[in-house]
Amino acid sequence: MADPKGFMTTPRQDWPRRPVEERARDWDEVHVPGALLPIISKQADRCMDCGIPFCHDACPLGNLIPEWNDLVSREDWRAAADRLHATNNFPEFTGRLCPAPCEAGCVLAINQPAVTIKNVECAIADRAWEEGFAPPRPPERLSGKTVAVIGSGPTGLAAAQQLTRAGHTVAVYERDDRPGGLMRYGIPAFKMEKRHLERRLEQMRAEGTKFRTSTAVGRDIGADEMRTRYDAVVLATGATAWRDLPVPGRELTGIHQAMEYLPLANRVREGDLETSPLSAAGKHVVIVGGGDTGADCLGTAVREGAASVTQLDIYALPDAVRDEDTEPWPTYPMRVYRLSAAHEEARDLRTAPVADADARLFAASTLRFDGDARGHVRSLHLTEVDARRSPVEGTGRTLPADLVLLALGFSGPDREDGLVDQLGLEMESRGTIARDSGFATNVPGVFAAGDAARGQSLIVWAIAEGRAVAAAVDRHLTGSSRLPAPIGPHDRPMAV
Ligand SMILES: Cc1cc2nc3c(=O)[nH]c(=O)nc-3n(C[C@H](O)[C@H](O)[C@H](O)COP(=O)(O)OP(=O)(O)OC[C@H]3O[C@@H](n4cnc5c(N)ncnc54)[C@H](O)[C@@H]3O)c2cc1C
Ligand code: SF4
Repeated sequence: MADPKGFMTTPRQDWPRRPVEERARDWDEVHVPGALLPIISKQADRCMDCGIPFCHDACPLGNLIPEWNDLVSREDWRAAADRLHATNNFPEFTGRLCPAPCEAGCVLAINQPAVTIKNVECAIADRAWEEGFAPPRPPERLSGKTVAVIGSGPTGLAAAQQLTRAGHTVAVYERDDRPGGLMRYGIPAFKMEKRHLERRLEQMRAEGTKFRTSTAVGRDIGADEMRTRYDAVVLATGATAWRDLPVPGRELTGIHQAMEYLPLANRVREGDLETSPLSAAGKHVVIVGGGDTGADCLGTAVREGAASVTQLDIYALPDAVRDEDTEPWPTYPMRVYRLSAAHEEARDLRTAPVADADARLFAASTLRFDGDARGHVRSLHLTEVDARRSPVEGTGRTLPADLVLLALGFSGPDREDGLVDQLGLEMESRGTIARDSGFATNVPGVFAAGDAARGQSLIVWAIAEGRAVAAAVDRHLTGSSRLPAPIGPHDRPMAV
């Protein structure tokens, strides 16, 4: 702690976002490039270096936050990068995408705005790349053991990098044409530009990890072949089986899942398509689902030039501050009003003429869709609901809708490729892959990690899962492991 009074003398300052009118016309990241470094050392100085750093526990990776805050406040970027990479393979991903449960657990957050931990993380990661502090780290010797990692999202990538660096020969299988999982075709570029992903993939290739894209295991290559070809198999296939909305009119055209819509928009950015076949341009868009996936649809529809965009959230409008009884410090408060960059854009551009502030209608439940003579959706009927989700009489309303996007979450891994059935995997009742306390499935030599086993989660948990499953696989292959395991398979976020 370079300045022991930093938290009293320096107010919190976030990485500024670009003006709405400017950023809503492009797909670049929303923050002002270059505006973080000049402010970040002072911000890091706000860290109180607490005796018990709750932020550290609140981060599933166990990131050494007070340590790197101190190093950043002293501008020792090389040491900060070393300490950060000791616990996080991909800090430039979490520095941009993590909802920062660490900040909810920051001791300063008890009565003041938290330290901007996520911004400090991002600044260290970016600086590390600029200064060459993140070179490829190929293993010094090979173990002679082989591992197949199935799925190239943050779980698979973290597992593959850890195992490659430990000396195993690792091949990552990915059914999409490019690696990255949801970071490639789900998350829009305005949240994280794909160049960050490409740079890590380049680093991983230089370390020796092999990537086999456009290969769906179970469909293009038998699951059993994986078992015979490799000494261990890691299933990191994500949880992409989406929830539907079985209300009258669901069969109309123009109603799509968020993960049908977002990948096409991302493919336009990758240069694969001229325009998206599901583009929101000129359309009245209604997004059903109040979560982050819905917000990503919102930001995408705004940039595509929608005539209007409204987002429906089944929950009531949350308070501006956390409920200390149900979600006390240092837990992560789910029910707090947050204004994401996409919501800020929707508010300022007034994309939803019917919504009060930022394009969201709260406590809103969809009753049915109506279509035109050609069977295309034209309107959505909704009602307000109470806390028990019962309709409130007299609150029905109709929204124009010629593109409806369903963002209702995911139930577990999809089983279309046949991987689960070919291996004879035991599943949990909620649809995820069952595993023991060592990340092992019921099939010898086959391990499961990330959203596929944990259920829909976050990038930070996915990286932690990848690191932990790598330690388990390393132990399975060699009898012991020095790889870190930040979490166990049954660890969950702090809660009351
Ligand atoms: C739209 C959207 C936005 C999100 N935004 C954020 C965010 O801002 N911050 C955050 O922390 N979290 C966010 N999340 C959640 C986060 O992306 C996931 O928790 C995380 O990506 C899970 O990582 P994973 O590696 O387990 O799975 P995934 O990222 O889903 O990767 C799984 C990969 O496995 C591949 N695969 C599946 N089956 C096979 C097979 N049979 N053969 C070969 N490959 C296969 C898939 O194609 C996929 O590439 C978001 C999720 C969505 C849907
Ligand atoms: S990964 Fe997330 S929780 Fe961990 S320090 Fe970074 S922002 Fe905080």
